[in-house]
Amino acid sequence: MEYHPLTKAIRIQTERTHEMEHSTPMFLTSSFQFENAEDMRAAFADETDDNIYSRFSNPGVQEFTDKMCALEGAEAGYATASGMSAVFASFMALLKAGDHLLACNSIFGSTHTIITKYLPKYGIEYSYVSADKPEEWAAAIRPNTKMLYLETPTNPGLDIIDLEAAGKLCKEHNLIFNVDNCFATPVNQRPVEFGADLIVHSATKWIDGQGRVLGGVVVGKKELIKDIYLFCRSSGPALSPFNAWILSKSLETLDVRMERHAGNALSIATQLQNHPQLNWVKYPFLPTHPNYEIARKQMRNGGGLFCFELKGGLESGRKFLDSLQLMSLTANLGDTRSIASHPASTTHAKLTEDERQAVGITPGLIRISVGLEYADDILNDILQALEQC
Ligand SMILES: *Cc1c(COP(=O)(O)O)cnc(C)c1O
Repeated sequence: MEYHPLTKAIRIQTERTHEMEHSTPMFLTSSFQFENAEDMRAAFADETDDNIYSRFSNPGVQEFTDKMCALEGAEAGYATASGMSAVFASFMALLKAGDHLLACNSIFGSTHTIITKYLPKYGIEYSYVSADKPEEWAAAIRPNTKMLYLETPTNPGLDIIDLEAAGKLCKEHNLIFNVDNCFATPVNQRPVEFGADLIVHSATKWIDGQGRVLGGVVVGKKELIKDIYLFCRSSGPALSPFNAWILSKSLETLDVRMERHAGNALSIATQLQNHPQLNWVKYPFLPTHPNYEIARKQMRNGGGLFCFELKGGLESGRKFLDSLQLMSLTANLGDTRSIASHPASTTHAKLTEDERQAVGITPGLIRISVGLEYADDILNDILQALEQC
């Protein structure tokens, strides 16, 4: 019988050992043994799928990867030590000198650094298009454009990009469509259904979901993953078997966790909507979100993040962070613990005012990663902090 992806996220498991364990053990081994010279020769000649060395493959890492492929509806995948190594490998394996990468302007900071600082060192050109001007994207495609890269919802502004329209554009122009699906997670949004060829993830965020380990994964078309696998096998960003064990276990509860994160986020965002100290509140599943219709089309729920703009600007933003009693001030997101961030004074402080403006980071912007605490406790913490601003 063919099971639903959510069942597979629980039931996919490495072959049981003679101990008949119910849950998966950890495969903390750097290499694997062979019975004889012939078996070893065949493994090295790629005639078998036998594990050789944990930089190439490891049963626990494969279990996590297989679950991610099932959830995303993807053919194949490779798991990495962090989200950034997944992003980097997807560029390095598939782009070459003379190619052009088209990327959406509101992307994760380190991804921006790789694109602008490192890709040009290898002769790979790039240009950015605006998340809120999809009508301009087609004109930005050059004869040597090889890949389109985007994130949706975007960070930290939570804009929604129409995956179906982007998928069509890539098909028309024969581009590799590469989507960072970290913010939505595969239980909420499946870019493959809209034509994505590759999906990258930081598993560090919602997938782990408890702020314990780093991890990443790239899944997608078999022939593209093969090149990524060969690049990673030689360059070494392999996911540790310990982290894979944690992340595979985490996938068993991803769907129920995300439902609660999203339920809390929608309820809190709704109750803050008309607060006198806020200019606006933005959450993909609030009808006031400018891309609400697209969000409803491509997402099952609105996710665990929302943001708002304080009327008082930069000083208010800092005051807001200082006044929080429950929420954490930390550089992560996607945790059981709610987290507040003020991009203008922290993650995006190095950008110029104009650069911040271009990606919607206003001085009073606050982003909340909604945790699994009791929703009223989270809301009340925000309300009492707003009183201090
Ligand atoms: C955190 C993050 C990354 C990078 O992941 P790491 O696991 O920290 O390397 C990439 N994309 C997005 C959207 C992220 O939030």
